Amino acid sequence: MTEELSIKKKEMFDAIKSNYSQITENIARAAEKSGRKPEDISFLAATKTVEPEFINYAISLGLKQIGENRVQELLSKYDEYNLDNCELHFIGHLQTNKVRQIIGKVSMIQSVDSFHLAKEISRLSVKNGVTTDVLIEVNIGREENKSGVLTENLEELIGKISLLENIKIRGLMSVPPICDTKTEISKFFDNMYKLFIDISPKKSDNVCMDFLSMGMSDDYQEAILCGANMIRVGSRLFGARVYR
Ligand SMILES: *Cc1c(COP(=O)(O)O)cnc(C)c1O
Repeated sequence: MTEELSIKKKEMFDAIKSNYSQITENIARAAEKSGRKPEDISFLAATKTVEPEFINYAISLGLKQIGENRVQELLSKYDEYNLDNCELHFIGHLQTNKVRQIIGKVSMIQSVDSFHLAKEISRLSVKNGVTTDVLIEVNIGREENKSGVLTENLEELIGKISLLENIKIRGLMSVPPICDTKTEISKFFDNMYKLFIDISPKKSDNVCMDFLSMGMSDDYQEAILCGANMIRVGSRLFGARVYR
């Protein structure tokens, strides 16, 4: 390796380290403000476009969850992740015909938004002798061309999925619309929290509302203040994404 490259790498490691501690401090502050403990909030790193050695470095700092968006990218990096103390989640839009490739490899699929997709996850989980945890993705901003179930269809979808084998609903996930102000985005987060709370008592063996996954680099503190207990942060941790 050239000297220049290794200096670049060292800078990258240093930046990740300082970003990591800043984010965990902000998480702790927001958790306390909302009457919870820092450890009540799961900090998932969104790792799309990030090289495995940087991901593993972040894991060595204490990260407990990472999430990938694309099946192809996940598979190409899979053997290099150090997952001894860290879970791998799938957080992107998942096509039914690709479920087969990630079942047994991921601890959670955060982006389930149709019965069709859930049925395939169930079928392949049974076949592989595993149970797959999922979150139901909600299209809280009612945006066209965006994944997620609409709020009025959420309860029915959860009811249907809860009857499937080897699939367990663990909560809700959302990617709200891009907003100009923190007040605006907080309204979407508040609405997600209301849904989360309303559905929580309607438990069954396969439904356990543990996680409300929302908030990204620009708004994770607001999300926590509104009740999120899992945030998904990418660029604030690893720096601006470079697409190859
Ligand atoms: C990329 C991504 C994130 C993280 O985005 P940043 O703005 O970089 O923090 C979170 N959730 C999902 C589903 C993503 O695709």
